[in-house]
Order: sequence, then structure tokens, then C-alpha cells
Amino acid sequence: MNDINNNTSGVMSPRIEVNRLPLSKQVPLDTPFSVTLVPSTYCNFACSFCPVKEISDKPSLMSIETAKNIIDNANFPQQVKVLHLYNVGEPLINKDFIKIIKYARQTNFAHRISTVTNASLLTKNLSEELIASGVDRIIISLYGLNDDDYLKTTKKKIKFETIYENIKYLNSIKGDCEIFVKVIDRVTPTEQTRQEFINKFKEISTFYSIETILPIWPNFRPEKDDPSQREDFQRGLYEGVPAIDRVACHYPFYSMVVNPKGIVNPCLADWDGLLKLGDTNNSSLNEIWNAKEYQDFRYEQLSGQRKEHPLCRTCGTLKAATAPDDDMDEDRLYLLDKLFGDRIKQSA
Ligand code: SF4
Repeated sequence: MNDINNNTSGVMSPRIEVNRLPLSKQVPLDTPFSVTLVPSTYCNFACSFCPVKEISDKPSLMSIETAKNIIDNANFPQQVKVLHLYNVGEPLINKDFIKIIKYARQTNFAHRISTVTNASLLTKNLSEELIASGVDRIIISLYGLNDDDYLKTTKKKIKFETIYENIKYLNSIKGDCEIFVKVIDRVTPTEQTRQEFINKFKEISTFYSIETILPIWPNFRPEKDDPSQREDFQRGLYEGVPAIDRVACHYPFYSMVVNPKGIVNPCLADWDGLLKLGDTNNSSLNEIWNAKEYQDFRYEQLSGQRKEHPLCRTCGTLKAATAPDDDMDEDRLYLLDKLFGDRIKQSA
């Protein structure tokens, strides 16, 4: 929690925390830093660059019972650092969403709780409940600065003024909660539109940023004719975080993502849930974290097999959105020996 005053102007900042402790000096972790419970795979928008419409399973919502089962049986030796409550899909569609946050807060499951919303369903009542729930950070995704932008991007008739007023009210009651407003850069193509965004949202946010739409999702390239979707993109997703091609993915070393049905994947990029490293209906998060499936996936990353993996090889997330301190490539071979030396000797 921070002590930011509601009247303070927001600060431009990348959404990702850039000054973390180097991950490769800390692995293996006995408790993941980050756990994501996905509240909803439904969305009330239909943005062309988002894979939510292509998910193979029927859209679903995480029930409070499923969330309680996951949290109560997690059995980690330490507290999780951050609980993320989002992935593709709009969390506020889920009627159990506030209950899930409250339960996670009440049980001290994580040090911080963070969510993302498009703010279109944020009534005053819901804003008040959200702030009272104990959430630490609410990230708001903006898809335009006027009604036409919204129609073009989300394919829905959305009143920009309503979104703006929703955020303004949320910010006015935020207390210790951080309000982070991000906009996609394709709706701020000129200095004038960038400035318009900053002028509008600086006063009603804690942090704000302009983010690039990049081909980050594995096996999903809906806009391949758009030059910004080229595989050789140079700019990162977040301002100030460079795009660098990497060998090993860091996500399986610190992250777990649980879909609404309780199935576990290592990362938010696995939008169709193809990796399936465990099932919280049968095992605790801690058992899954230490199980062979997770270990094998980590081994694949450190031994340089990422580019042969059917999902990871087409994933742009690692290149676009890795905080410098999470980059494992420099220590990859050292970590391969430290974590899997015995396995390598036995198979020699
Ligand atoms: S490379 Fe992409 S799909 Fe594979 S684990 Fe990393 S983020 Fe997930």
C-alpha cells in the first residue's frame, strides 16, 4: 500500500516494475512471486488484437468456491507477492469478483492484489465495492479518446465520456489504491493526441502510460498485414522497457496462472490454456509448482528448447514485455546446472 493522496497528479510509468531483484539470483523459488486467478474469459468488447474471442473452451467465470478452494489449499511456505486477477476477459462481468478479492485479502494470500478492467461496467456502486474490497492496484485499459475510436477498436458502441466519468469517480475515492490508466498507442498517433491523453488522465490517475499493440500472443496473428505486427518489432510493449529477443522464458520460474475452471498454466500469454501444467481440483498450487510437469517445462526453457516448443516459439510476450531484471539468459547455463545438474548427469 502507498500513501498517495487522491489529489496528486499521476506519473507516467511503464506498467511493469523495472527495478526488481534479479530473478536468476533467486531461483529456485519455494513460492511463486506471482499467482493469477482468471476471473472471466467473457468480454463485453471485441477488439481485433485480443484473442479472447478465439478461446477454444466456452467462456467461463471463476466462482468464489473455486477461488476459495485454490486459496485454502495453496499450501505455499511463504506469502505470494502479487495476486493478479485478470487475463484476457473482463473481470467486472463476474458477480463473484468482489468476493474473490475480499477472500484473498482476508486470508492474506498475497502481499498485493492487482486487477485490470476496461472500466465500462464501473458504476459508482461497483467502484465503491472495489475500493473497499482491499485491491491495491486497478489497471484501466483505454481503447480510445472518443466514441469513434471506441467503435473502431472494440466494435461496440461505447460512450467515451462514460468511461472518463467512471475513472474520475474511481480515482476520487481510491484511498490507498493505485489507479493506473493505459491507452493503446494506435489511438494516440500524434503529439497532439498523446498530449490530449496525458492532459485528460494525469489528474485522475496515480500512474498512466501509452502502450504499443504488438504481436505478443502465441499462435494468434489477426492483423498480420499491419506493419506494427511484424515479428521483428523493435519497441517494447511498455515505454522504457526495450524489446530484446531471448532464449529462456522466465515465467515458469516465478508465475502461475489459474483459469476459471482451476487449470494451471505458467503465463498470461497462454490465452487458450494449452500448456496445462496442473489442475487445482486435484492438487494444491504448491504440489503443482513442484511437480514434474512444471520442472520439465523449466528444463525446456533453460536448455534452449523454447524455439522448438509448439506454443512458445511463436510467443512475442517474452521479447516485448520482460523487465530487465527478469532476463535469465546471462545465467541460463549456470541455472541449468544448478537446477538440473543431477538430471543431466543421470541421462549422460
Ligand atoms: S514463451 Fe510465451 S507462451 Fe511460453 S511460457 Fe513464456 S510467455 Fe508463456
